[in-house]
Amino acid sequence: MVGSAFMRQLEAEGFTNLLKPDRFQLDLMKEDAVLQFFFEKRPTIVILAAAKVGGIKANNDYPVEFLLDNLRIQNNVIRCAFQSGVRKLLFLGSSCIYPKFAPQPIPESALLSGPLETTNEAYAIAKIAGIKLCQAYMREYGVNFISVMPTNLYGPNDNFDLETSHVLAALLRKAHEAKKRNEKQLVVWGTGKPRREFLHVDDLASACLLLLEKYDSPEIINIGCGEDVTIRELAELICDVVGFDGELVWDNTKPDGTPRKLLDVTRIRALGWQPTIPLRKGIAQTYEWFLANRAQ
Ligand code: GDP
Repeated sequence: MVGSAFMRQLEAEGFTNLLKPDRFQLDLMKEDAVLQFFFEKRPTIVILAAAKVGGIKANNDYPVEFLLDNLRIQNNVIRCAFQSGVRKLLFLGSSCIYPKFAPQPIPESALLSGPLETTNEAYAIAKIAGIKLCQAYMREYGVNFISVMPTNLYGPNDNFDLETSHVLAALLRKAHEAKKRNEKQLVVWGTGKPRREFLHVDDLASACLLLLEKYDSPEIINIGCGEDVTIRELAELICDVVGFDGELVWDNTKPDGTPRKLLDVTRIRALGWQPTIPLRKGIAQTYEWFLANRAQ
């Protein structure tokens, strides 16, 4: 989802010299293959968007894979980027790197100031290791490897698998299928009380491209829209966009996860960036993409 958003934006801006190996052409978990790729192709700029990602259930069920696969991918790419002389690297972290009870909105300074949320601790630890590796390369070798922390993302090419997806894609699919089958109820996980901030992936891409041009600091920087909604409000909005008018049923056997993770976006706002896609519009656009590409 994130990689394809970068490609859309870069191609729209006229870039033609893009290297975009997919997972079948280059397995980022294989150190030798990654090293060979970097020395053969000699990229000057690297956007490290590749990662093993998933929603609350996948993160909770597969901590080994979330920790190991992400460490492998980022260690290989960051080290080979350095060895082959890459000019600038942008590493994508996540808002889940912050402590479970961080002050809201969460400033960048909250990193490593308290215990993490347990459902996605493995993923968060891997991402924190990635940030620290980029900072270490900057300090020790003077290279330009920056780290950005996006909030919860959604958009075209999202994962719509109900077991492994994040909440927005899952609820879009559930509402669509409930409507199609004329069902009266839609099951939503947890209590509906947690708050989440959602950013369309095209807005993330525009923020990152600006940071590639203007941001050269080892300090991490948040990327978000600055507003959050409860999961209940999100579910109601999605039902409205999809046209499902049944009842919401809460499955309290599923975890809520962290109560709130709204990012403090003062720093990126000061650089002149702001998002352009309001949540309702972004959901409607993503639903159209789902209907054209994933709906059965
Ligand atoms: P998180 O932001 O890391 O907690 O990941 P998710 O996007 O998977 O979940 C966000 C919140 O949405 C959690 O409180 C979930 O319990 C809730 N949620 C409600 N229904 C669903 C669903 O169908 N799928 C997922 N993934 N989360 C859901």
